[in-house]
Amino acid sequence: MKNSRTLAKPKAEQTKRRAFPREARLKESDPLLRDRFLHTLRGASTMPERGGDAAIARLGVHRIPIPLPFPQAGGPVNVIAVEEEGGGIALFDTGIGGVDAEAVLRSGLAAIGSDLGEVRRIFVTHGHVDHYGQASRVREVSGAPVYVHARDRRKLLSPVHWIADRELYEEFLRRCGVPAASVREILEVAAYQEHLGGRLEEPLGELAEGQQLSFARCDATLLEMPGHTPGLVCALLSTRGGAGGPLAVLLANDHILEHVSPNPLLEILRDGSRFRALPTYLESAARARALELDWVVPGHGACFVDHRRVIDGLEGFYARRQEKILSLIPAGGATPVELVLSLFPRATGLDTYLVIGEILGNLDLLEADSRVGAIERHGELRYFRR
Ligand SMILES: [Zn+2]
Ligand SMILES: [Zn+2]
Repeated sequence: MKNSRTLAKPKAEQTKRRAFPREARLKESDPLLRDRFLHTLRGASTMPERGGDAAIARLGVHRIPIPLPFPQAGGPVNVIAVEEEGGGIALFDTGIGGVDAEAVLRSGLAAIGSDLGEVRRIFVTHGHVDHYGQASRVREVSGAPVYVHARDRRKLLSPVHWIADRELYEEFLRRCGVPAASVREILEVAAYQEHLGGRLEEPLGELAEGQQLSFARCDATLLEMPGHTPGLVCALLSTRGGAGGPLAVLLANDHILEHVSPNPLLEILRDGSRFRALPTYLESAARARALELDWVVPGHGACFVDHRRVIDGLEGFYARRQEKILSLIPAGGATPVELVLSLFPRATGLDTYLVIGEILGNLDLLEADSRVGAIERHGELRYFRR
């Protein structure tokens, strides 16, 4: 994609683009942009299975991929079923809502001799609808309690936080230079998440750093790994005796994906501040890098080994992105939305939302290195090179 255009996007062109029906806009927009909805694809989204599923089966852990109705997630989402002591199954994530996903989950559980009614505990690793969308249905069928980290809790409840916090998002997007019509479009699409999964009611149990869980054939320690979302939690599983020697497995969900960058989506916290997603993510990635692991079970795609190679690749990806963004800031500075259009001249209102979080994240890192500075003037946020 070329980035040689000037920053200012003609107003007429923006208006024309917004006149398309949403479906047409999604089809028409750049596939690279669409891939950013939840994650940024960095390579093939489907990888051959390399023995990970057999290895984790020793721990009583089974991966059930659930297809998603949108390609942007980087392939089917993995539900992880773990055999419980005394019978039954625990689930890490449930897949997206809807009857099609429920049917796939039911047949995946049947293949390991279980059933939706046998679910004893539901652990939601983070508040993205492809991971929790089926949770209300599974709870309804099984009566199992649902657990989630406090910082992602509101995302599971009704109404979706986008609707509840609409004014905070509106205000922040305006400060970034997003035109009012695009702000409306972004909020409409974000609120559509309400339809991709059943909303949950209280009570929800809580997941937190250091919690110990025990299962039929393994133990788990929960690790907070904020970044992809503020309340993302990974589970570090280890064997409990048995044949075949010790095995360390990380249920990483979307914290580390082999070929997909976890897109740091824009998130405004309840106090109106912006979650510093990317710097926080990189700290959590460094924490994961230090773990000794035999297998990583990701939220999308097959199990993989050598997580350090994947994390090093990600760090390189973001470092190159920062250089690119820096090179696009003109002498007079740029608003975040001008940088979005500079990187992706065909970006629509929705695309703007998908990209702006990543741009802001990289600007945060550049700012921390004193390579850019931000000034707010007349209610508009503008970044300058230092
Ligand atoms: Zn996610
Ligand atoms: Zn995901």
